[in-house]
Amino acid sequence: MTTRIQNATVVTMNPQREVLNNTDIWIDDRIIIAVGDYGGEARKTIDGSNMVAIPGLIQPHIHLCQTLFRGLADDLSLLEWLTKRIWPLETALNAQAMRISSLSAVAELIRGGTTTILDMGSLRHTEIIFQTLLKTGIRGYAGKCLMDRPNRFLMENREEALTESYALAREWHNQDRGRIRYAPAPRFTLSASDKLFEGARVLADSFQTLVHTHAAETLDEISEGVKLHKRPPVAHLHDLNILGSATVLAHGVWMNPEEEAIVADTHTKLVHCPSSNLKLASGLAPTPRWEEQGVNFGIAADGASCNNLLDGFMEMRTAALMAKPFFGPAALPASHVFAHATIEGARVLGLEKEVGSLEVGKQADIVLLDFSGMHHQLWRRTPIYNQLVYQTRSTDVHLTMVGGEVLYENHEFSTLDIDEINGLAPEVLAEVLRRIEENS
Ligand SMILES: [Zn+2]
Repeated sequence: MTTRIQNATVVTMNPQREVLNNTDIWIDDRIIIAVGDYGGEARKTIDGSNMVAIPGLIQPHIHLCQTLFRGLADDLSLLEWLTKRIWPLETALNAQAMRISSLSAVAELIRGGTTTILDMGSLRHTEIIFQTLLKTGIRGYAGKCLMDRPNRFLMENREEALTESYALAREWHNQDRGRIRYAPAPRFTLSASDKLFEGARVLADSFQTLVHTHAAETLDEISEGVKLHKRPPVAHLHDLNILGSATVLAHGVWMNPEEEAIVADTHTKLVHCPSSNLKLASGLAPTPRWEEQGVNFGIAADGASCNNLLDGFMEMRTAALMAKPFFGPAALPASHVFAHATIEGARVLGLEKEVGSLEVGKQADIVLLDFSGMHHQLWRRTPIYNQLVYQTRSTDVHLTMVGGEVLYENHEFSTLDIDEINGLAPEVLAEVLRRIEENS
């Protein structure tokens, strides 16, 4: 069935960075078959007049399981946030809580124009996250979070955790023609042993997929890591042969010069999470320096419990603004930020041939933005990337499409029952909080 988006302003993010006015996009069997004129007939036409079509945003570091905890863990440092709130809350998640949390998260992502994610699951109920990805139509990687170092809350036996990871990878990796993929997720070097990281690497290599972890997020993590391993976390992961182009490190705020060189030399991927880094007072990621070093990085919201939104437009704006007081007003310009949130984010995930730009042959992951609001009044007179990064709000999203399927249009979801999710969320959360009291 051929779909035509008619008469839009198309921000292609192709290698020439073309922006095309009054242009059609044609889609057939999930794929973009033309940008511009095409001789065929459309079975379905979507009016793109006065709309801007962009590639769907890509957020390569998300915690779907934490959306239910939004607002329950504010104003804490990372290690307090983890040990006092997040780990006890994740421990108390049952299957129904995971279902409601992940569905709420994906609804917010789709409504805000995000079409691809890399999710770090939790220790339990990872299969529910995959069911959410399957049902909602969003594209992404997810994986069981892996923790085997002793702590009072979340930890598992290493062999059992890896055995379950293999079973999940066999069941879910490359589901729905590759829309859904598996990526094992050792949490960070303070909570996952060297052997667990090595096991995750072997699993990832055997399925030709990614290893996803946190590294160099806070100074406390660095000093604890040095106590434990005699080396800071990124250098330690390099010593273990974990790094490389199929490894995604969230944060990278506090890498020393040796570690920054390691990341650049090994083509390891980074994810900048600006709101999370600010809210947890983790620090300032030196993103303009990463650009100078040729490091490939994406931009993401992290989790709703440390942000408290999963808003890709908010993250782009924050990424741009927070670089400027430290690196100058010209640092990380809007055109670069938008690339990090689209085609560069795709490269972080090894998906740059499939998504991240609006080009013939790519998956039809397309967002239509309605620029009729007051804050876009003179939009045709200023550079489009400045509009997209500094002025666009997630509420400007009119339509979100993944693989040619419309998941959200004009305030309506096609794969999600928002009333059911919102109706169940309070009692599901109350049950989680009851279980925490029983456990304490
Ligand atoms: Zn995270």
